[in-house]
Amino acid sequence: MQPTRTGASVPPTPVRTRPWPQWPIPDASGRARLADVFDGGEWNGVTAPAVLDFEAAFGRYLNARHATTCVNGTVSLEIALSALGVGSGDEVVVPPYTFLATATAVLGVNALPVFADIDPETYCLDPEALEAAIGPRTAAVICVHLGGHPADLDRLTEICERHGVALIEDAAHAHGARWRDRPVGTFGQYGSWSFQGSKNLTAGEGGALTTDDDALAVAAREIRNCGRAEGGPWYEHYRFGGNWRLTAFQAALLSAGLEQLPGQVERREECAARLDEELARIEGIRPLRRDPRATTHAHHLYLFRYEPEAFGGLPLDAFTAALRHEGIPAMPGYPRPLNRQPLFAERRFDQRATGWRPEYPPTRFDRLGLPVSERACRETVWLPHHVLLAPPEEMSDVVEAVDVVRRRRLAS
Ligand SMILES: *Cc1c(COP(=O)(O)O)cnc(C)c1O
Repeated sequence: MQPTRTGASVPPTPVRTRPWPQWPIPDASGRARLADVFDGGEWNGVTAPAVLDFEAAFGRYLNARHATTCVNGTVSLEIALSALGVGSGDEVVVPPYTFLATATAVLGVNALPVFADIDPETYCLDPEALEAAIGPRTAAVICVHLGGHPADLDRLTEICERHGVALIEDAAHAHGARWRDRPVGTFGQYGSWSFQGSKNLTAGEGGALTTDDDALAVAAREIRNCGRAEGGPWYEHYRFGGNWRLTAFQAALLSAGLEQLPGQVERREECAARLDEELARIEGIRPLRRDPRATTHAHHLYLFRYEPEAFGGLPLDAFTAALRHEGIPAMPGYPRPLNRQPLFAERRFDQRATGWRPEYPPTRFDRLGLPVSERACRETVWLPHHVLLAPPEEMSDVVEAVDVVRRRRLAS
């Protein structure tokens, strides 16, 4: 650890003034591939070469038989649910510590999300909680590889198979993550991906589904293409779907980004390992524990737990603000579990669409408890993945900033 700058006088300059690597990275390969699409004239369509090339490359990278692109990682979840026949009257188990879309995609197909708590060490869906949440109306489970750490795919796949319910992996945080050395997104019936601007592979917006099941791949392609039968007439629509296609421009950027991804995954692992080791030495800071079966962690987010007691009672929000003042782009993350977002807590959605009937008791989402998720919202600090693209030795800036904030607080 580097010497800190604390002392009698407060240093006027932040620990870090140099910018962190930017994200996304506007590289020459992306520009060239964009120009190729621009000049080539095939800007849209499921048969544009740029789209087909990316789908093939993404499938190869993940060792998945099929990859199907679509407009974003919310719609990809909806397409997956719809293709699996999930709809009104069905329940889908989801974790509450995740981005809204994991749960609203369920409402999007008129099913009802059921929240099951997370594991206290990985923040991914807790298999015990899942088992307890499965009931007669459960049709599917969506697990999230939170922050890029794979969920416990051994137990989740076993539980889903035993109960005969589908598993969808929300892999929006997990490009390149591996469980027992096998890419995530290939364990469930579908893997769902987002290429939104903050994600580890991005075209600004975009999404995809991966699957090894030929029929599910066809279903996904048909639903994202207005419900046309594959190979059928253009103006014949035989199932519900929509125009949820990616543009060739997005596909071009994704192909360029995919070439960089393996090196970035490695760099993030290296930087995260340093942070794990060095941050753990600071009293009041506890990085999340990694499951040894998580052979590659994608680190969409670097997460650590913060105990205000060790920092003179400094609240989480004030701590992350102080880190930002020191040049570290730390965030307090999800402010509350999804079940306590007004949408759910106040049931601001059409309950009848979900198959709810007056004789059913309405779900009191606001009273679910879910203590592990509540606690995660109270005590977790996030660093965005592009911090981990800096040279590994620069992780000392993060460690020093945490140390400076602590010493300054304890001295005051
Ligand atoms: C980003 C994200 C999504 C949704 O992806 P979009 O492309 O933004 O629609 C879904 N789930 C998780 C966990 C995400 O972080």
